[in-house]
Amino acid sequence: MTVLVYALHYEGEFNKNSLGAVSEGARLAKELGGEAAAVVVGEGSDLTDELCASLGRYGATKVYRARGPEGLAQPVVDVMERVIQDDGYRYALFGGGLLGFEIGAGLTARLNAGVTMEVTAVKAQDGKLVAERPILQDSAVVDVGYAGEPGIIIGRLNAFDAVESGDSAAAVVDVDVELREHSTKAVMVRRGEQRGADVNIEDAEVLVAGGRGLGKAEGFELCEELAGALGGAVAATRAVVDAGWYPYAAQIGQTGKTVAPKLYLAAGISGAIQHKVGMQNAENIVAINKDPNAPIFEFSDLGVVGDLNKIIPKLTEAVKARKG
Ligand SMILES: Cc1cc2nc3c(=O)[nH]c(=O)nc-3n(C[C@H](O)[C@H](O)[C@H](O)COP(=O)(O)OP(=O)(O)OC[C@H]3O[C@@H](n4cnc5c(N)ncnc54)[C@H](O)[C@@H]3O)c2cc1C
Repeated sequence: MTVLVYALHYEGEFNKNSLGAVSEGARLAKELGGEAAAVVVGEGSDLTDELCASLGRYGATKVYRARGPEGLAQPVVDVMERVIQDDGYRYALFGGGLLGFEIGAGLTARLNAGVTMEVTAVKAQDGKLVAERPILQDSAVVDVGYAGEPGIIIGRLNAFDAVESGDSAAAVVDVDVELREHSTKAVMVRRGEQRGADVNIEDAEVLVAGGRGLGKAEGFELCEELAGALGGAVAATRAVVDAGWYPYAAQIGQTGKTVAPKLYLAAGISGAIQHKVGMQNAENIVAINKDPNAPIFEFSDLGVVGDLNKIIPKLTEAVKARKG
């Protein structure tokens, strides 16, 4: 076995980020002439054989299922350490996100391994993996190789596409790992939801993002109405998050989340580089801005110059009318 991937599930589904990591792990393992496996950890009844085996559709041939608290990093570190030591994986791959970063960092320390974070692409070269990592605010990319094994690769959020490569089921293997004492110290009290964070912006196919051009916190109601009509979610720039207009969970950019929706619509956003790095992989970029020289128009597929207060309500009505 070559590549081990962590897959996060919640309420009976794997998230898009994890499915992307499994797909990428399978692709890379194949290039190295090996196979990829996934680790899932949870204690709920939703962690069924069927759910675990479904990772086979994304290329995993084996899934290690361990019972333990969901959504916490240290128990997963314990499980992955054990699997790597027992079955000798050459690389561990994570799809990014806060949990991926935390588990990857913990595993790196535990195994005294080499790690690359914020990886945007991985290639096989001379029988080894080489990770590509943007540096200097994404103005350059460096290739990072590993001197020893295992190598830990932590992707940027949603850097890897989820690709269904077949309909075979992965073999599900239950592993019984005794968690370390300190790994059981943190407990999940509850999963909180806040305005704007009830939909995961990383998984949304349509995002309506609001910036300082909305004028005030209440301006986000325009974005919420439009996102509702389009069946999407609302995102934000750092400027409005810092101003307390919208929660941090919705922030896109260098110090926020990286997204790749099918449609990203910017309302009153200038298009600063720190925002751009988080949304430039959107398939279609539409911007509404009253300033014809706003930088966002330089990387938009469709630019509308005008006052968002006039345009967005009309657009929302038009979408609703079209949907009947
Ligand atoms: C280290 C660092 C990290 C950062 N990380 C991030 C990050 O993760 N994410 C992020 O977003 N930013 C980040 N920033 C901040 C970034 O540099 C910008 O300041 C921020 O993105 C600007 O947000 P904005 O587009 O909402 O506001 P502005 O730049 O003020 O743009 C507002 C836009 O709204 C337009 N507008 C105004 N009124 C209307 C109207 N009625 N109708 C239509 N258009 C209108 C204006 O023409 C303008 O273009 C970071 C900065 C630093 C230094």
